[in-house]
Amino acid sequence: MDPETIIGIDLGTTNSEVAVIRDGRPEVLPGEDGDPILPSVVGLDPQGHLLVGKAARNQYVLAPERTVRSIKRKMGQEVTVALGDQKYTPQEISAIILRTLKRRAEAALGRPVQKAVITVPAFFNDGQRQATREAGELAGLEVVRIINEPTAAVLTYDPHPTAMERLLVYDLGGGTFDISVAQIENGVVEIQASHGDTQLGGDDFDQLLFDHICDAFQKEHAVDLRASLAAKARVLRAAEEAKKRLSVDAVTTIEEEFIAEKDGKPLNLRKEIDRYEYEELIRPLLLKTLTYLDEAMSDARLQANQVDKVVLVGGATRTPLVHHLLEERLGRPVHAEIEPDLAVAMGAAVQGGLIAGVDVGPILVDITPHTLGIETLGELYGFLSSNSFSPIIERNTPLPASRTEIYTTAVDEQEAARIRVFQGENPDTRYNTLVGEFLVEGLAEVPRGNQILVRLDLDLSGILKVTATERATGLAKHIVIDNAMERFRKRQRSDAVDRLEAILGSVEEEPAAVLRLPAPEETETEPGAAAAVPADGLAPALRQVIQSAQALVAKAEQVLPSANEEDAGELQAMLADLRAAIGRRDADAIRASMREVEDLVFYLEDA
Ligand code: AMP
Repeated sequence: MDPETIIGIDLGTTNSEVAVIRDGRPEVLPGEDGDPILPSVVGLDPQGHLLVGKAARNQYVLAPERTVRSIKRKMGQEVTVALGDQKYTPQEISAIILRTLKRRAEAALGRPVQKAVITVPAFFNDGQRQATREAGELAGLEVVRIINEPTAAVLTYDPHPTAMERLLVYDLGGGTFDISVAQIENGVVEIQASHGDTQLGGDDFDQLLFDHICDAFQKEHAVDLRASLAAKARVLRAAEEAKKRLSVDAVTTIEEEFIAEKDGKPLNLRKEIDRYEYEELIRPLLLKTLTYLDEAMSDARLQANQVDKVVLVGGATRTPLVHHLLEERLGRPVHAEIEPDLAVAMGAAVQGGLIAGVDVGPILVDITPHTLGIETLGELYGFLSSNSFSPIIERNTPLPASRTEIYTTAVDEQEAARIRVFQGENPDTRYNTLVGEFLVEGLAEVPRGNQILVRLDLDLSGILKVTATERATGLAKHIVIDNAMERFRKRQRSDAVDRLEAILGSVEEEPAAVLRLPAPEETETEPGAAAAVPADGLAPALRQVIQSAQALVAKAEQVLPSANEEDAGELQAMLADLRAAIGRRDADAIRASMREVEDLVFYLEDA
C-alpha cells in the first residue's frame, strides 16, 4: 500500500475529473457509469436526495431551483446559492463535487485517499485559490498544491522536456476560454501570459444551435419551442449531442418526437444540419478566441515561429474548425493527441506524482502519423486540377479516429465517383501515397453538385474503412484497407517528384468521375437558409496559399527588427492586412497582400 498517493483533480466549470499515476502513467478514473467525466452539477431530486453529476445536470432545465451548476464562477465570492430550502457557500457545493471524485478514486484504488493536487484557471486570484483549498478540505482532502490549469496541460504533454520549451495552451471548455503562453524548463512551468473569456465556451455553441433549431421550427410550424421548459430541455440536450456528432460526421439529424402540440395535434422535430452550416454559426466565436490568442502572444512578446508546441485542452477543442483556424493562424499542426477534456486532470496527477516522488513517464497514445484524405478536383498551384488533396483525418489525431466530409459531383449527370484515398501532407496527391481506391456507381442522374459523404474510420491496428454515401439516396459503397499506415512508410516518393515539373502550369481536363468540395450554395440544406456558406477553408489550394502567406509572415518578422522605424511601421501595417486576409480566408486578398509584403521584404533584405 502506498499512503502517499496524491490524486490529481480538474475541478472545472462544466465538468470535473480525477486522475492518478498508475504504472508510471496518468490515468483518469471512470465513475460507476464508466464515464471519466463528472458534470460539475449538484442537485436535489424531488425527494430531497443529493444528485451529483449527470443526474443533476439532466434535471437542470426542469428544476433549476433544485440544481446548482457552474459554481466555479462564484468561487471566492461572499455569496450563497440556494439548493432546495438550504443555502450553501460555493466552497460547500464544490466540496460535494470533490468528495464524489475522492470516493471515485478510493473505489478504483481500493484504499483511502487523503491528498490531492487541484487545478484552477491561471487568472484565479488568491481569494479564489483559497476558496478552492477550503473546498478540498471540506471534502476531507489535504490539498498539497493548487496548480494552474495550463501548467497541468503542459505537464501532461511534456513531463520531462530535454530542453527549454515554449507551449501555447488553447483551452476551450464548456463555459470558459483560456489561452496561455507557458515555458517549461527543468520540470518548472512558468505561465508567461494568459488571456481568456470567462463567458465563452462549448455551451455557447449549444445555444447557437438550439436557437437555429427553434427558429427553423417556428418558421415551419409557428410554434416557439422556447416557450415550454420540457421542450427546451430536450432541444438543448439534442443540440449538444448533435454538436458532438458534427465533430465526426459531416451531416447529422436532430429528431425529437412529439416535441410540441398545435391545434391538438402532436408535432415532431426533424432537422438535418451539416457541418458547414454549423461552422458558420460558431465561426464568429472562434474568431474571437483568435484575438485573445494574438493578445497573449503579444504580451509574451512571442512570434508564432517561436512556439514549440500548440496544445489543445477542453472538450470543445474537438470541433474540427478549432483545429483548422489555429493551424491557419499559427502555420503549424496543433497537438490534440491526449483527450482534451482529460489532459488537465492527467497533468494534476503528474504534478501529484512528482511531489510524491513517483516516476512519471511520457504518455503514450496511438495517433495517425500522417493525414488521410481523398483526391478531388480543386485549385492547385493556381489552376484547376484533379490532383488536389482534401484531408479528412488530420495527422496526430488519436486512434481510433472517424471523420466524414462532404464532397459533390463535378459534372452534370455524373453517374460514378472514383474515391482515391491518399496519405500524406502535400496538397498535391502526386506527392502523397495512394492507399486505396474504388468506384461508386449508379449515382442519381442529376446536375453537378450531388453530395457524396466520404467517411474514414481508422482503427488502432491501422485498418482503414472508407465509405462513400450519396446523401440524397443513401446509396453507399465501402472498402477496407489493411495496414494503411504501413503502406505509407514503404512508399516510393521519387517518381512523384519527377511528375511535379510536368504538371506545373498545366490546366487539366475535368475527368468525369471526380469529386470536388461543395461550392457555397450547395452546402445550404434548406431553400432560403440564412447565410450563404463560404467554401471550406480546407480546400487544398486555399490551404497552400495560406501556408505560403504564413511562411512570408514569418520571414517578414525576421527582417522587421533591422528595419528603420518608418519601414517597420509600413511593414507592420501590411502584415496586419495580410493576417486579416488570412483570417478572412480570402485567397485573392492574400495573394495581393503577399505581393506587397514580398516587395518590401525584398527591399529591406537588400537595404
Ligand atoms: P470541458 O469543460 O473541457 O469538459 O468541455 C466541455 C465542453 O466540450 C462542452 O461544451 C461539451 O459539449 C464540449 N464537447 C465535448 N465533446 C465534444 C465533441 N466531441 N465535439 C465538440 N464539443 C465537445
